[in-house]
Amino acid sequence: MSQPVPAFIGIGANLGDPVAQVLDAFVRLDRDMPDTRLTGRSRLFRNPPMGPQDQPDYVNAVARLETRLEPRALLTRLQAIEVACGRRRDGSRWGPRLLDLDLLLFGGEVIDEPGLRVPHPGIAERDFVLFPLLELAPGLIIPGRGTVAALCRSMSCTDLQAIAEEARA
Ligand code: ATP
Ligand code: CA
Ligand code: CA
Repeated sequence: MSQPVPAFIGIGANLGDPVAQVLDAFVRLDRDMPDTRLTGRSRLFRNPPMGPQDQPDYVNAVARLETRLEPRALLTRLQAIEVACGRRRDGSRWGPRLLDLDLLLFGGEVIDEPGLRVPHPGIAERDFVLFPLLELAPGLIIPGRGTVAALCRSMSCTDLQAIAEEARA
């Protein structure tokens, strides 16, 4: 059997109870995915919305997985978890959602296919991805973009706020 590959998943939610949904996503990523286990989770961060501003703040986090799934199969499983958590696709870009799971990185692979791009586009410009990643893997190299730590240092400012542990109980 193939060796497990480290993969990083961006988690976001801004409808319902976003903290609870992000915590539930960690559970599901460990429990509901075949040939996959959760090996790391960042803190949770509160973050103003990207794109349309007439929607609630987001709660974001990053999970680290070890998986034997192929990237396309992994994305399909992530989308199944989104649907199980009540996600409905209404077609609006960056609109509000109960749960968003993005495949950020899959080992050191670069994939550019219809419906699947890895590293996830925009990863190097998004503070709500980079700072959670920094907690899990500061030396990680984003193919073509450098290390997570260097990309964080290059961010001029951030509105990201870590959510206190007690708020997560
Ligand atoms: P963004 O991708 O900019 O964060 P979004 O998460 O709101 O925006 P979605 O509506 O969730 O976008 O996804 C749109 C499409 O992106 C999906 O149908 C999926 O096929 C595609 N996609 C391409 N690469 C990836 C990836 N690495 N992870 C998740 N979805 C991806
Ligand atoms: Ca997203
Ligand atoms: Ca998405």
